[in-house]
Order: sequence, then C-alpha cells, then structure tokens
Amino acid sequence: MSTFRFQALQQTANRKPVKVEELDRKSIIFGSNVFNDKAMRQFLTPDAYQAVKNAMQHGTKIDRKIADYVAMGMKEWALSKGVTHYTHWFQPLTGTTAEKHDAFFETSYDGSDPVEKFGGSQLVQQEPDASSFPNGGIRNTFEARGYTAWDPTSPAFIYGTTLCIPTVFISYTGEALDYKTPLLRALHAVDEAATEVCRYFDKNVKKVTATLGWEQEYFLVDAALANSRPDITLTGRTLLGHTSAKGQQLEDHYFGSIPTRVLNYMRDLENECMLLGIPVKTRHNEVAPNQFELAPIFEETNLAVDHNSLLMDVMQKVAERHDFKVLFHEKPFKGVNGSGKHNNWSLATDTGVNLLGPGKTPMSNLQFLTFFINTIKAVYTHEELMRASIATATNDHRLGANEAPPAIISVFIGQQLTKVLEELEGVSNGKLSPEEKTDLKLNVVGKLPDVLLDNTDRNRTSPFAFTGNKFEFRAVGSSANCANAMTIVNSIVAKQLKEFKVAVDALIEEKGMKKDDAIFNVLREYIKETKAILFEGDGYSEAWEKEAAKRGLSNFKTTPSALKAKVSKQSLELFEGLGVMNHVEAEARYEIELEEYTKKIQIEGRVLGDIARNHVIPTAIRYQNILIENVKGLKEIFGAKDFEAVAKEQITLIKEISGHISEINAKVEDMTEARKKANALTSAEEMAHAYCDNVKPYFDVIREHADKLELLVDDEIWTLTKYRELLFTR
Ligand code: ADP
Ligand code: MG
Repeated sequence: MSTFRFQALQQTANRKPVKVEELDRKSIIFGSNVFNDKAMRQFLTPDAYQAVKNAMQHGTKIDRKIADYVAMGMKEWALSKGVTHYTHWFQPLTGTTAEKHDAFFETSYDGSDPVEKFGGSQLVQQEPDASSFPNGGIRNTFEARGYTAWDPTSPAFIYGTTLCIPTVFISYTGEALDYKTPLLRALHAVDEAATEVCRYFDKNVKKVTATLGWEQEYFLVDAALANSRPDITLTGRTLLGHTSAKGQQLEDHYFGSIPTRVLNYMRDLENECMLLGIPVKTRHNEVAPNQFELAPIFEETNLAVDHNSLLMDVMQKVAERHDFKVLFHEKPFKGVNGSGKHNNWSLATDTGVNLLGPGKTPMSNLQFLTFFINTIKAVYTHEELMRASIATATNDHRLGANEAPPAIISVFIGQQLTKVLEELEGVSNGKLSPEEKTDLKLNVVGKLPDVLLDNTDRNRTSPFAFTGNKFEFRAVGSSANCANAMTIVNSIVAKQLKEFKVAVDALIEEKGMKKDDAIFNVLREYIKETKAILFEGDGYSEAWEKEAAKRGLSNFKTTPSALKAKVSKQSLELFEGLGVMNHVEAEARYEIELEEYTKKIQIEGRVLGDIARNHVIPTAIRYQNILIENVKGLKEIFGAKDFEAVAKEQITLIKEISGHISEINAKVEDMTEARKKANALTSAEEMAHAYCDNVKPYFDVIREHADKLELLVDDEIWTLTKYRELLFTR
C-alpha cells in the first residue's frame, strides 16, 4: 500500500542534516544587507544622509530632490551587492508581507541605451495593483488604487537579489490599508504624550521611543510529512489526529539538546538574520516536542515589527532548504502546547532611560512609578480593547485553554511592587508631610532597584506581566503581526498619559500643589481605582474566572465577541482622538477581521469535511472489509453455528466502525447545512457569529469519531500521517 503517508515516511527516514556555511563573526556580518548608518554614510551625499536621519529621528519630510539623491545612493549600494530588482515591501491586512518586484533595468524606447534606473519617484511612492487586498469596503473596486509610500524610519534591506523598501500601504483617499500605518501613528502619539510627562522629571527629554522585544514560538515539521497532510497544508494545523502515546508528559524536550537537523536550520536562519540586521539572540526548545523559540534583542517598535514580519518569511524560506515546514499556527496539534509570541514592551527616552526600569534615585523612581501605574491604568480602562487586539480564529485555540493566558486581561506585577502600591495608597491625601516624603523615599522608593534582581517572581499564567523592567504581553498569538497588539498598547498608554498630564497640571495650577505632591496624589487615585485589573494568582484556575466576573472584567472566549470592542464608542474615540485611525479605518478593520475569522473557519470546515469523507471513511471501510472477509472465512471454517464465538471481536469491531462512519457522515452533512445557512447571512458580524456558534462546534464531534477510527484501523492502511510521526524529529 503506497499512500502519501508511507512515501513521506520513507523520504524522512533518509534525511541528513543540511550543511550550513560558516559565515564571518556575527559582529562583522551583522546588518551587511541593510542600508544602515554605515552604508548611508558611504553611499549618500551629506545632505541626503542628514535628510534621512532627520526623517528617522524627527519625522521630517524628505523633499523630492533629496529623495532622488537617496534613491541614487541606495541603487549604487544595491548594485554593488549584485541586486537586480527592487520592491516596495508592505504588510497588508492579509497577515503576510507583500511585494512586487520591478527590475532596475530599463532601456530607452527603441531598446537602446540599457541602464539601471531607480529614482526618487520609484523610491517614494508606488501604485501596486492592490485591488485584491482586504480593505473592508474602503476602496470600491472601481477605485481600486492603493499606494505604497516609503517609510524612512525602517531601513531598506536586500533579500536574495531584491532591494526591499519598507512602505506603508494606503488607499487613494489616504486611509490605512495595512498594519504599519496605524502603528506609526500610535508610536507618534505615545512619543508625544510620554515626552510631555517625562518633562516633569527631566527637561532634556525630547523623544520617547516605544521598544518591543518579541519572542517567536514555532513548530518545525518535516516538509514531506507536513505536505502529506491536507489539513496542515491548507489550514496550518491538524484538524484530526489521535494524540501520540508519548507526548510532552516527560517534558524532556524543554530546553533539551537541539536535534542536529534542527540546529543546522537554526544556524542557517541566524546567519540570514544577521545579514538582515535582525538581532536574534536566544534559541531553545520549547515545552512541546518539535516546538522552538527564537528571540531578538529588543528594538524600536516599528523596526521590531518589520523584523518579525520579515523573520517569519525568512524562516519559511530557510526551512525549505532543510526540508522543514514551519508552523506558526497557535495550536497545530491537539493535546500539545500551543505557540505564542510574547511582546515585551517598554518606553525609552532619547536620554537613554528605560521608563519602566526602576531607577536608583528617588526622582527616577517617581518617574518609574508614573509610567508603571499609568500603564496599569491604561490596561484597566481598555481591557476589552486589549483582548480584541489579540483576537483571531487561530489564537482562540490558545487563550483560556489551560496552557496559555486566559481570555481575561489582567496585570501581574509581583509581590514587591504590590507592596509598594499598597504603601503608596496609604499615604494621606493632599500635600505630603515631610515624614511621609521620607517614608516614601526610604520605604517605597528606596526598595525598587531590588525588583530588578528578583526574577523568580514570575507568573506564567498572566496575559500582561511586569517582568522587572518591561511589561510582557503574553497573550499575543504566534502567527500574529505584532503591529496589531502594539498599536493598541501604545495607543491606550498614550491616551492615559495625556489624561495624567491634565490631572497633574490641574492640581498644580488650581490647587497650588507642588509637582511631586500632585504626581503622588494622582497616582494614588489611580492605584485605588484600578485594583480590579491586578491579579497575582493562577490565571488558569476556574476560581479566577469567577473572581474576574465579580470584578467586572470581560471574558470573551471567541473572536467574534471579542472583536466588538474595536469599534466600541470608547475605542473609536480613543483612535480618533489620537489620530491613530478615523472611524472609517477602524470600522473597516473590524469588518476585515470578522471576514478573516469567517474564512478561516469556513476553510477548516471544508477541509475537515473533505478529509473525513475522502480519507477517513474510505480507509475505515477498507479495513472493515478486511474484517468482513475474515468473518466470512471463519464462518466457512467453523460453520454457521460456531463461527460467532471465534469471530466475536471482529463482529464488534465491524459494528463499531459502522457506528463511527455513520456519525461522521451525519455530522459532516449537518455541518455543511450549517455552513450554507451561515453563508446566506449578509452582515459580516452575523456570519462570523454563525460560523463560531453553529459551524465550529461540529469540528470536535467529527474529530472525535475520526480519531477513534484511527485507533481501530490497521496502521498499515491508515493514510494520514500520525502525530507520533509528525512530532518527533531527530
Ligand atoms: P523571558 O521572558 O523568556 O524570560 P527575558 O526576560 O530575558 O526572557 O527577555 C525576553 C525579551 O524581552 C527579549 O526578547 C528582550 O529583547 C526583551 N526585552 C528586554 N528589555 C526590553 C525592553 N526594555 N523593551 C522591550 N523589550 C525588552
Ligand atoms: Mg517571555
């Protein structure tokens, strides 16, 4: 019997680790394919260099003439490295990156004078045929034009033989059609708001940068094995498959030694990352078999988001060389841990201070407390929006599934800081007495630097945890574009800091309070107000669900219900007030995300129906026929009177198989019916809910019967590659 499964298994049996070329020392090759400071100094005129620098640091515009010079330098640099094409590289709302390659090469109208051409106009703006990217109704198809426009804050880079220019993607009328545009606006908003607040403490601060250090979890599966499974190929996860006898119970994979084939993949990938200037630093095994993690040194958020998007692309390409497929899905295997992408977030000043790093002096600690408490307040006020920022069909499998943060947003701060907040809260109202000030400095503020040393106090079940000098948004899914979560975190903090500034200024101006007193007073009110969002216990426990409900925290378990918060009055005001998105953009995005949800469940439903009917049932029948032949034979030998005693087990099996087959058939039919009904609905919202509530529940039922069959049917004829084969690469 030669099925895909056995062919694939044979292929993998002979795999050898792929040799990886040793490159120069990391410090030497780092960023050599990036149009970075070093390359710019070498290839740009001083004017052009300064213009790009100003654009990066202060957001100033680059005029057309200068753009020509920049393009010229960029082209020279790229040609010197053997590049033949260029592309505007952007992140449409499909979740992947997009590019359209154009050759530098051009000739004059009669074919003579061939030249390599690339000018300012090609650098600054392009008009890709963008009619097929999701836009949520912003562009009617007759006005299908979309523009990509150069984002000078993220440097151009070379991948393969193509010069990639990071760009935003906007509609003809200027609305954002990508992830980057709202993120850049949110980063600008948080810069403005945080800089203002910083100036209470240090007048030299001119700019605040949001920093992001993501941690990318992923699964590696042998390419032949992955390709032998239509569900993995089409949906990125297994829709069927009985758990392996050996799973992750022994936890022998976690931080264990990395298999050679995988290690070579990682080394190859890291080399690529070094050339592309992605500062990856750590690599290790994760909890589940075949699960790994890659994390970089943190960077400015826009660049970090670009690097993560680029990395996901590069990971898949490098995997091809090593006969692997990377699974970014949040839950590729049932009963095996899922993958996340922790987003470590903080704010840093242009004077080199991490605003969420407890400082050494009382003043820097007051600054720390200000940003720390304001972040908590922001999350408290916008917890529903935070939940919405991580809501996708694929992440639904993870949130609240007893292995990942729950669908309830809360903040973990650790014992020491909990005590600090309690002490702060106890301080009397209004002007602080000298004793209180001393007390605060000695007992509260003086303690803070120790927090840094305390890394043991970590609660892995918290969706948003303070981890010493940054917050870690853990509920982000492994396949997500970080921009989604980062746009929202930075927006809510920006809004909160603005409100804080207004409140403090009012106390100073109207009540004549001293600045420190005013800050303490506002912070104390925040501490009192936001207690409900702080939670130090086990986020996986049922008790927490009950407790959270009492506290009035939301607990949206599915994407269609969670997404709604993106277009609540509060959220629309937040986005519009900060200039992050106007209501057309926000509503379009809501629509797009609902549609994406529907499509994902729809595809899964189709694929599941197909596999169940065209793989599982035929295989089960084939095996049943073998049993029937066997029973017939027994009857022949033992005669009609006695055969039943010897054929008892077989007959039971035959019946059992029939039972599962008819259940699968019936449920697939019901599911198809439910899909038809859902498809007839006209609003995106209703359709997403119908898919969630009426279609998706069939998945588990169908799977249960199919997985039972997998246990019953002869391994020799089972066509679908099994968990134990997919999951244990050596
Ligand atoms: P883990 O959370 O796995 O224990 P670490 O605490 O060492 O690991 O750091 C995890 C991530 O936090 C790294 O990717 C690092 O770049 C990032 N990180 C550290 N400091 C900051 C910061 N100030 N801003 C943003 N990210 C940061
Ligand atoms: Mg982490």
